[in-house]
Amino acid sequence: MLIDTHCHVDRYPNPLEIAHQCENERITTVAVTQLPSHYELALPHVSSLRHVKLALGFHPLAVKGNLHELELFARLLPTADYIGEVGLDFSPEGRSSKDDQLRVFSEIIESLSKLTKFISIHSRDASDEVLSILENFGVRKAVFHWYSGGLKCLDRAVDFGCFFSINPSMIATDKGRAIIARVPRNRVLTETDGPYVKISRRAAHPRDVKNVIAHLSRVWISDELETETQIEENFRDASGK
Ligand code: MN
Repeated sequence: MLIDTHCHVDRYPNPLEIAHQCENERITTVAVTQLPSHYELALPHVSSLRHVKLALGFHPLAVKGNLHELELFARLLPTADYIGEVGLDFSPEGRSSKDDQLRVFSEIIESLSKLTKFISIHSRDASDEVLSILENFGVRKAVFHWYSGGLKCLDRAVDFGCFFSINPSMIATDKGRAIIARVPRNRVLTETDGPYVKISRRAAHPRDVKNVIAHLSRVWISDELETETQIEENFRDASGK
C-alpha cells in the first residue's frame, strides 16, 4: 500500500480528479491545507473518500494577514484527525512574520498536547525552534515534512519520538540522502509534497511515492513490499492508531 503523508491536493488544477485517483488506486493520501478556511471548503468534497485524509492546516507563510483564522482552527480541530501543514519558516520569505508564526504554532501545538492526531510539520530554517516547541508541550509523535535542518537536531528529534517524511526531491540530493540514511527505519514516512515537488518538470502525483519506496528499499536492502509494510506500520504509529 502506498502512503503519501503530505500532498497539497487542493493546489493542483484538478483537485477532485486527483482525490478520486487516490481513492481508486487506494493510495492513502494526507491532503494538507494551508489555511483553516481551505480545510473547511474542501471537507464536503472529500469526506466520503476512504483513502483521502483531509488535514487541518495553518501554513507558516500563510500566517501573515490571516491571524484571525486561529479561532477557526480551534473551532474545526475536533473534526480533524490529521493536522498539517503547520510549522515555522524563518527563511528570508518568512522572517517578517516570525513573531506571529511563533504565536500561531505554539497555540496549535499546545492545543494538540492532549490529543492523538497525525501532525505534518514545516520547519524551513527553523527546525531547532520547531523541536523546542514540541518538547515544551510534550508532543512527541509529530512528523517533520521535507526536513532540511542539521543532523544534530534530527538526532534530538528522533530521541524525542518524531518522524520524518521523505519526498522524491530529497532522494535526488546529497543532503536529502544524508538525512534518509540517518533516520531509523521505524521513523520514516513517505510523501510527495505535490504539486510543489516536480518530477522531470511535471508536478509530482501521490503515486510517485513509489520512487521513494524504491530508494528506501535500496538503502535498507529490503524488498519493496517489506519497505511498504514498514511505512504502513510507521504511519499507524504516527497517527496513534
Ligand atoms: Mn507542503
